Amino acid sequence: MVASDAEEKEKTGEDMVATPGPVQRPEGLAEVEEEPPKTPEPKRVYEAGTQVSCKASFDGQNHPAEVIDRRRVGRTETAGADDGGAYLYYVHYLEYNKRLDEWVEHGRLSPITSPAELKKCDSLRSPSVLSPRHDAGPGQLERKVTRNLKRRYDEIHHTAPAVEDLTPAERTLEKEHEEKTKVKNIQMIELGKYELDTWYYSPFPDEYASAFKLFFCEYCLKYMHSKKTLVKHMHKCQARKPPGREIYASTRPPSVRHKNPVCFHEIDGAKDKRYCQSLCLLSKLFLDHKTCYYDVEHFWFYVLTERDAQGHHIVGYFSKEKNSQEGFNLACILTLPSYQRKGYGKLLIAFSYELSKLEGKVGTPERPLSDLGLVSYRSYWTRVLLGLLRDYKGSLSIKDLSTLTAIRTEDIVQTLQTLNLVKYYKGQHILNVTQRAVEEHLKVHKLSRDVAIDSSRITWKPHAAPNSSSKKK
Ligand SMILES: [Zn+2]
Repeated sequence: MVASDAEEKEKTGEDMVATPGPVQRPEGLAEVEEEPPKTPEPKRVYEAGTQVSCKASFDGQNHPAEVIDRRRVGRTETAGADDGGAYLYYVHYLEYNKRLDEWVEHGRLSPITSPAELKKCDSLRSPSVLSPRHDAGPGQLERKVTRNLKRRYDEIHHTAPAVEDLTPAERTLEKEHEEKTKVKNIQMIELGKYELDTWYYSPFPDEYASAFKLFFCEYCLKYMHSKKTLVKHMHKCQARKPPGREIYASTRPPSVRHKNPVCFHEIDGAKDKRYCQSLCLLSKLFLDHKTCYYDVEHFWFYVLTERDAQGHHIVGYFSKEKNSQEGFNLACILTLPSYQRKGYGKLLIAFSYELSKLEGKVGTPERPLSDLGLVSYRSYWTRVLLGLLRDYKGSLSIKDLSTLTAIRTEDIVQTLQTLNLVKYYKGQHILNVTQRAVEEHLKVHKLSRDVAIDSSRITWKPHAAPNSSSKKK
């Protein structure tokens, strides 16, 4: 693209003012001699796919970004049809996770012109599968994107969706997902006493999808357009806890850091469909990858709440496929942002493994995990295994660890590899543990801070296996 005059002007930073147009002089100020007012230069319109430098909200610094979308704002008569200042731009910062994507005004964008910067941008941009929309060259070239580049993208974004492992059909779905979820729709929600900025797109029904803010009843999860409707609803709504059955209630807070005792409710997606759909739509606002929104009847939902005099306040949840052929003991997991960094992610994970133990099975979470999910799992596996290796007297095999924890052997091996506590010997992995090595690791992973499930307080029995004739072999 040829740099226009407007572009030249932007580089000097002259047009950081949001509204273009003749300068308004405060009343009563004497006319001073000045040049006759001239028509302002039109600002450059950035097209979707343009690489720009953008001043980010999260640190106030400029970062390479890509324009994903734009929308008109305010009074358009002050700006011509082709004036960039008449738009808000939705940008993705190339070096950061999508959750930092945001709408920004024109003044925060500047064109990238130096060849070095352009090159940096290109190397940061995701390969075809993740960003198929703006081919820089012939399709052939895009398809040749190397695994290295892909890996680098993943490292930068702290995610591991392992796109190269997907089947062609899954890749197509992935592409569609990317296309559909580029732009966050709902920017904010109110839930209980919290107002939360959302992170990602979520497929709410059309009449809600374009709302700037949604208001949730924190108990029945009904969502509404206005505070007024919510207040009315709260007078009527009888719910003070999730539907379904309470299957765990602690008598005290899960750790000294917490104020209230916690509970788990098990909810059948087939019975309380409306609640579970709302829960999925709500959680999608904070999860990049999630596929089940409306098709909830094949899942159990385990909702974690903090209990106080008012009622049960939702903290997070995980879902579990009723009949997982692959041995997944968890499909989707979320701790709401208002409750993050309190150990609740690990509490949810711990509970999912407690259920597996009661079923007499080993389990593993469904992939791909969200970036935050992966962090919680790695931490959970590490701490559980280190705790066992510290306390267990006698010899242990990887299989024993799996039986004791309900953690799948592959996940155990992977975790112990990162701790350097396993070696490969005569075609198999065996433990390579010394008490000293375990103690060293425990200096970093302080187990005393952990939140724990009191398994004696779980009132849950495994569900009868569904019709075994439908089971695939
Ligand atoms: Zn309600």
